[in-house]
Amino acid sequence: MDIRILGAREHNLKDVSLTIPQGKITVFTGVSGSGKSSIVFDTIAIEAQRQLNSTFTWFIRNQLPRYERPHVDEIEGLTTAVIVDQNPVGGNARSTVGTMTDIYAMIRVLFARCAEPSDGLVSSFSFNDPRGMCPECDGLGVTTQLAADRILDLSKSLNEGAILLPAHGVGSIEWQRWANSGKFDPDKRLRDYTKQEMRTLLHGTGGTVRIKTTKGSQEVAYEGVADRFARFNLKRDLSKVSERTRESVLPFITEGTCPECEGARLNAAALAARIDGRNIAEWSRMEISELIKAVSAITDPAVRSLVDTVRAALERIEEIGLGYLSLDRSTGTLSGGEGQRLKMVRHLGSSLTGLTYIFDEPSTGLHPRDVGMLNDLLRALRDKGNTVLVVEHDPDVIEIADHVVDVGPGAGVHGGQIVFEGTFAGLRKAKTPTGEGLRRSTAIKSSFRQPTGELPVVGANLHNLKNVSVSIPTGVLTVVTGVAGSGKSTLIGDVFMNTYPDAIFVDQSAITASSRSTPTTYLGMMDSIRKLFAKASGAPASLFSFNSEGACPDCKGRGVIITELAYMDPVTTHCATCDGRRFKEEVLAHRLRGLSIADVLELPAEEALEFFPERDLAAKLRSLVSVGLPYLTLGQPLSTLSGGERQRIKLAIQLNRTAGIYVLDEPTTGLHMSDVDTLLGLLNGLVDKGNTVIVIEHNLDVVQQADWVVDLGPGGGRDGGEVVFTGTPAQLLKSRTSLTGKHLKRYRQ
Ligand code: ADP
Ligand code: ADP
Ligand code: ZN
Ligand code: ZN
Repeated sequence: MDIRILGAREHNLKDVSLTIPQGKITVFTGVSGSGKSSIVFDTIAIEAQRQLNSTFTWFIRNQLPRYERPHVDEIEGLTTAVIVDQNPVGGNARSTVGTMTDIYAMIRVLFARCAEPSDGLVSSFSFNDPRGMCPECDGLGVTTQLAADRILDLSKSLNEGAILLPAHGVGSIEWQRWANSGKFDPDKRLRDYTKQEMRTLLHGTGGTVRIKTTKGSQEVAYEGVADRFARFNLKRDLSKVSERTRESVLPFITEGTCPECEGARLNAAALAARIDGRNIAEWSRMEISELIKAVSAITDPAVRSLVDTVRAALERIEEIGLGYLSLDRSTGTLSGGEGQRLKMVRHLGSSLTGLTYIFDEPSTGLHPRDVGMLNDLLRALRDKGNTVLVVEHDPDVIEIADHVVDVGPGAGVHGGQIVFEGTFAGLRKAKTPTGEGLRRSTAIKSSFRQPTGELPVVGANLHNLKNVSVSIPTGVLTVVTGVAGSGKSTLIGDVFMNTYPDAIFVDQSAITASSRSTPTTYLGMMDSIRKLFAKASGAPASLFSFNSEGACPDCKGRGVIITELAYMDPVTTHCATCDGRRFKEEVLAHRLRGLSIADVLELPAEEALEFFPERDLAAKLRSLVSVGLPYLTLGQPLSTLSGGERQRIKLAIQLNRTAGIYVLDEPTTGLHMSDVDTLLGLLNGLVDKGNTVIVIEHNLDVVQQADWVVDLGPGGGRDGGEVVFTGTPAQLLKSRTSLTGKHLKRYRQ
């Protein structure tokens, strides 16, 4: 049965109805903000999850995330959905390429069966099992130590707040554990403590303390400040705790490679066992392409079929262009695109059929050379009897669609409709922005800017770089390109950024901001907006802040209720009092040019630009529009932005800075062909103002618009790490060695 959707109205969708063929590849195209994700992720995927969850018992349902029913009249024909997105793969510190693909588990069985010496136990090779893990770091490979000098202020007494840890303020319950213990004079400065007193304060045990709580008083066992803190925070996996908790704990600890296992995560017994002279940590450290050869060399007939299975799994990873990774690589260090492709491999090995796979721009991070591999993978999933939905901008991927759904025509309120449905051939003729984008011709610049100077990098050897020396010209637009894993991020994101710390790096990583952050607070527009409301209404400006007086009393202006739990992650629920609008009822009665403050926060940037003629606000709103975010509403929580959108809002904030070095990591992510032109205009504008702009990018439209190209390669991982070409795009076309040059030539035909 095909998937039929009737009357979808999530976000900007205008009563959208469509039919998606079963067992086929359907690609969703359209400018950013047109509503692709609103259809695919916020309607189809959410409804599929919800319907699946409703088949479970009440008890299990209670432990699953709750999905609100999407705004849609009817959806039928859904099957179990598998979402393969770019969210970081399990930021958990215990997760590695080997564990997430289950290949490490198979290697462990190999070790249990044929390593010398081995006691035959599989779990003794697991760093997630007490029998195999290094006792020092509990299998994390890194240890955290308490920075004792940072938790105490020796110039103060307990009564003056000598304990600097969060939630240990004078009078707090935590503080009473030491101040009321009777073991110290609470007015004595810590610097005057005897050695014994200091030891008792930090590490002492024995006896009890009576502490006062709101519910009366309570007797607790005495425990030293440092020991108590360590017990709760040092042996915990900090990547799993909430950002808030992590931020409050991090200043007090230092992290480093575990001295016991040197990062291998395993105990001495596990590391003593070897196959072909290598222990399991050494096997895991090999690049997958090398590992394939090593595994194939195991001839023991007892493990014949296991070896075949491991090799097939490793080859699937190599086939999608990730042969340069190693099994011990922590998943937290993978890029979004790498993570997504690894998630994909996991499903290729599975024998389930009849599923709906949903991909979010799977070409991210892929060089044109690698897109062919991606297409084979998508086709393989379809041919196993699955329905494949893909949100994508890359014409080479759109081309393999059995069915194309073009969403638009514009972004935000100007989009939300289906403007074309049919084949790729039909799309190329369609009168839509995507059709026009496919027909437009782009060209290499007719003249290249002359550099004003150069920024040298000398003898770089980090990760796979092979003693790379290269100069980045100043005052021009430089594109650094090369296949995935060739070393672009390492050279620019790590080495160059460390050499030139005043350069501004605009990447797609999370914005460190509170749950209250919105485009208005992030760009610093809220003060001016509040003042305008105050002037129009005569009420104080502070009333129009959801951070103080004007806040909804129940959610304190968050729009959601966050229940904080000591030493645990907080729980978040929607605020029913203000229905997520953040303000008190009376605040909303005040109007500015006909709109309430909540209405204003619902304006998309481009409409806000018409609403606010004020110069300071207009300049900031214009920067949002110029980075391709005209559809973003002023109050949309920053936490709901995609990676590409995050990067563009960071760029918006940097635009008004003067002469500097800008480094951007794949800024075309999430951008439609017509948006790429806007982005190029923006980058050229930055260069014209005297800036140096360096872009890590595969998009050939961007490559050919550069003044200077640095091509890394020739391959990924150990096969890369060299500069293959430097020069202008015109010279790149003539290069015999550059893969990028070859693809650029093909692209222009
Ligand atoms: P696309 O996937 O085509 O880039 P989206 O579906 O993400 O577009 O966005 C369509 C519109 O919906 C945009 O105007 C966007 O700002 C809005 N939107 C997306 N997510 C949210 C959200 N969580 N809250 C409010 N508005 C949203
Ligand atoms: P690109 O940006 O060209 O895709 P990268 O610079 O990310 O390439 O990777 C180059 C090589 O360095 C690859 O072999 C990759 O596995 C390795 N590498 C990248 N980041 C890390 C890291 N944090 N730890 C270990 N190896 C890394
Ligand atoms: Zn260790
Ligand atoms: Zn509220």
